[in-house]
Amino acid sequence: MKENIYNYTLDKLTQYFVMHNEKPFRATQVFEWLYRYRVNDFKQMTNIPKKTIASLEENFDILSLDIAQKQVSADGTCKYLFRLADGRLIETVLMRHNYGNSVCITSEVGCNMGCVFCASGELGKIRNLTVGEMILQVLMVQKDLDHSFQRISNIVVMGIGEPFDNYEAVMAFLKIVNYPKGLEIGARHITVSTCGIVPKIVEFADFDLQVNLAISLHAPSDNLRSEIMKINKKYPIKEIIEAVRYYIAKTSRRVTFEYILLKDINDSKECALQLVDLLKGLNCYVNLIPYNEITTKPYKQTTKEKAEAFFAILKKHNLNATLRMEHGADIMAACGQLRAQKMKEEK
Ligand code: SAH
Repeated sequence: MKENIYNYTLDKLTQYFVMHNEKPFRATQVFEWLYRYRVNDFKQMTNIPKKTIASLEENFDILSLDIAQKQVSADGTCKYLFRLADGRLIETVLMRHNYGNSVCITSEVGCNMGCVFCASGELGKIRNLTVGEMILQVLMVQKDLDHSFQRISNIVVMGIGEPFDNYEAVMAFLKIVNYPKGLEIGARHITVSTCGIVPKIVEFADFDLQVNLAISLHAPSDNLRSEIMKINKKYPIKEIIEAVRYYIAKTSRRVTFEYILLKDINDSKECALQLVDLLKGLNCYVNLIPYNEITTKPYKQTTKEKAEAFFAILKKHNLNATLRMEHGADIMAACGQLRAQKMKEEK
């Protein structure tokens, strides 16, 4: 069985060459071809000896992903529905910001975290994505952008799945996209979002790259959070905050707390004040996110007035916060909705 070459970190590829009695620097050459020049055929790697190319071809595939669907939103957001080799569907979203092109990556087929408001978790986790399947999401989008000489400047691991429930593969993915002579996405331009798997937050704080951390908090108290996020029963808020403090101490990076405003659930003034109490003094900012309503769920988006009142309370108490606008709502860009719809159609 051939390996997908995109599963290999530079270290692993170097080991491969060493084991095959080849020069270790071949790994950096191959990496440059794959990630800088983005070729999809070993034969195009013109500085690699023919014999080495033949052995690479014997052992590796340079795969791509099938685009099952692609939708472009009025605001430029572009949503890709990819079909994996085993027929599973995943979503990747390209968002256009004033600071650059940001890609939202899926880390698992489905998700086991079971947050009640989220469409991705409805069927549970089917499997982890491989390193290569995550890499290919970035490469497929980048190759599209190559036509207009643009580059991906930011990555958020915030698509379907819980990245810290597929930790090793996600870390390998981060190292590959960060490779300076390849896609060259700076660690500070990458954010990994978790629902709060505490031991992995601690491990991530010690990871080689200083990648940004986002926590999906969505509630300021354990009572409320446990109602909407199953994971809170295992890792309550206090433990998350402790782990976040450790991350900040180790990295000096500011942490983002994501907070979806759900109508009549977590959008009250009391909730805002509790959130202020919880996060006061922490090097963080709060991202207030509008909820994308899902037909199978009872949850609703809060009103503009309530969102603004919530935001004002945070600001009044000097918490850094943003009230985020929706991206690509007209193409169902959010959180597994396109995948869910397509799966229904194919049933
Ligand atoms: N499992 C990770 C990353 C994937 S979810 C995490 O929990 O952070 C990415 C973000 O989208 C999370 O903050 C999640 O709570 C949020 N989300 C899920 N469903 C949503 C919806 N319908 N509308 C808006 N945000 C949603």
